[in-house]
Amino acid sequence: MIARMSDTEIPMPNPAHRQRRQSEPPRAAIIGGGPLGIEAAHYAARLGHAVWLFERDAQVAPDVRAWAHVEMFSPWKQIRSSLGALLIRESLKAEKVNLWKYPPDRVHPIGSNFVKLYLEPLVSLLGTSYLRETRVAALGRSYMFPGEHAAEPEKRTARRFRILARSPLEERVYTADYVIDATGVSHTSHWAGAGGLPALGELGSRGKIFYRIPDVAGKDRVHFLGKKTLLIGDGTSAAETAVALAELLEKEPDGSFLWVTNSRSEMPCKLTPGDPLLRRDTLLKKANLLVKSGHPRITFLPITQVEAIQHSLATGRFQVTLQVNHETQRMTVDAVVANVGSRLDSQNFERSLHPQEPGLYQIGAKAADGAGDFLLPEGRRQIQDIFRQITGRPDLDLYAEAEAALKVMDGEQASG
Ligand SMILES: Cc1cc2nc3c(=O)[nH]c(=O)nc-3n(C[C@H](O)[C@H](O)[C@H](O)COP(=O)(O)OP(=O)(O)OC[C@H]3O[C@@H](n4cnc5c(N)ncnc54)[C@H](O)[C@@H]3O)c2cc1C
Repeated sequence: MIARMSDTEIPMPNPAHRQRRQSEPPRAAIIGGGPLGIEAAHYAARLGHAVWLFERDAQVAPDVRAWAHVEMFSPWKQIRSSLGALLIRESLKAEKVNLWKYPPDRVHPIGSNFVKLYLEPLVSLLGTSYLRETRVAALGRSYMFPGEHAAEPEKRTARRFRILARSPLEERVYTADYVIDATGVSHTSHWAGAGGLPALGELGSRGKIFYRIPDVAGKDRVHFLGKKTLLIGDGTSAAETAVALAELLEKEPDGSFLWVTNSRSEMPCKLTPGDPLLRRDTLLKKANLLVKSGHPRITFLPITQVEAIQHSLATGRFQVTLQVNHETQRMTVDAVVANVGSRLDSQNFERSLHPQEPGLYQIGAKAADGAGDFLLPEGRRQIQDIFRQITGRPDLDLYAEAEAALKVMDGEQASG
């Protein structure tokens, strides 16, 4: 592996030389090429900032691809931003493709269409700013230790961020004036065991457990058809899985599934009164109805914690131990789906920074309370707020500007 400095960090003995020249645009480093990292990168680029967007995976938005088959709760109108839509339409117009229309605003795309029709085109517009297969391994500030100038943020911001990133070919140092951490949480699942710890045997069996929403009707069907499944969890992902498993039971009645949650509620899924997302509300009600209707091949066990999950290579099955309302039950199942939510991966990259480092911002579920229900419009509000702080312009609103530009384009298209 080759190790080198980025073009923007030429080694110089005097730290003062590192400071950005007034004429240069600010340099943004955005870590994580999911929907919000891509969004933030375009926001910065539209402001004229120079951008690095680091994505450790070879593919665009790998966390969304993990649920490619799932229909989204939100319609396109809420999924895409006005800025993203404008950028795509501007580029198509430049290529003289005037027929482009987003799928009707009210359509709910599946995850794979979100990637194909929106995120991939936006990434291609980023050009060389997008660094694929480039994992940020460590983040600090040039010429500065974490505790130095703790009470004087202006002294800390006088030194640029220093980012150590690794790609398959090289290790390289990049520098930036501000950093946005958009590394998400969805790639790091909670453990299925009691208290959020790994159940006995779970560490060794995790490669065989489905922690995401399996594609029960598609590529993962073979794992569930005519099989006995243990489903753990009570959120929307578990509801998706339950409904898909029940639909499979219609086709192959020999299977069964056991649905366990640690809550005391009689129904697995908690509804939000007046849920603005109709599709989510319908899904949760449908999942609860499976339990309420007393389907003979679906068993629901509340007040249950998972004590042990042991996968056997010899049989390909799992030995499971549950504490059901303080009574031990042991059983063998063919598949385990643990839709138990995501957690923060504090080990993701090393930070040699002050705990309240100026110029470092977080976006996405990790920056919000109630990470489980985090939605994209909230992420865009975070982005807007961050750029207002960065630019010192409290009225900055690229989304409103983009919305207005889209209307003009629509008008032009309508008039021929
Ligand atoms: C099944 C499902 C359905 C959903 N439906 C909706 C919906 O209908 N409406 C809605 O608004 N929201 C919905 N959401 C939520 C929404 O999709 C997420 O909030 C959003 O995808 C999060 O995007 P993100 O960019 O914050 O994180 P992520 O998509 O997780 O992106 C983080 C990226 O960072 C990369 N990364 C991590 N560490 C590093 C590193 N060290 N260096 C470089 N790269 C790194 C990862 O590879 C990843 O690509 C849904 C979520 C799920 C799971």
